Amino acid sequence: MENPIKKVLVSEEEINKRVAEMAKEISDEYRGKDLIVVGILKGAVIFLSELVKQIEFPVFMDFMAVSSYGKSSISTGEVRIIKDLDFSVEGKDILIVEDIIDTGLTLNYLKDILGKRGAKSVKICTLLDKPDRRTVGVNIDFLGFEIPDEFVVGYGLDFDEKYRNFPFVGALKEEVYNILD
Ligand code: 5GP
Repeated sequence: MENPIKKVLVSEEEINKRVAEMAKEISDEYRGKDLIVVGILKGAVIFLSELVKQIEFPVFMDFMAVSSYGKSSISTGEVRIIKDLDFSVEGKDILIVEDIIDTGLTLNYLKDILGKRGAKSVKICTLLDKPDRRTVGVNIDFLGFEIPDEFVVGYGLDFDEKYRNFPFVGALKEEVYNILD
């Protein structure tokens, strides 16, 4: 297969270093508390796995799946929950772990809904941020890397379910996504 990557934006080494730093920041923030780490499927799985291994105390882990990128629901700001949490969030400290924040609509919705369900606190941790595309304000509490407005894959992020297992974050060549047009 020809290399689908136009450019590596964040290397494996850079990610590993930053994930370790973020785990330390999160450990310092939540030490002594019961933390529920909520991963957003599927994109956040690799990031979340590497992150939680380096948090310095036991955490609870749960997952949600929401309607995916490119669906018309995104433009209206409505996000459909495909898989909900197993745990109740009432009175709990919640850290949402996401792969990338683009328009901000997904995270804005999730933060709102978990707050309404009575979570004690809801904070956001994302590996990547594309601030150029933001349509709603989202306060990011723990951020890995800011990236330019390019469609990226790797480290959990896919294109048509492929490339999630790449150990770096790379911009996809235009000719790869033009195939689906
Ligand atoms: P938002 O609601 O912030 O616009 O969308 C966030 C979601 O869009 C992410 O969880 C991810 O699924 C998808 N997304 C946004 N930008 C990219 C990108 O560059 N690459 C991939 N693979 N997914 C993206």
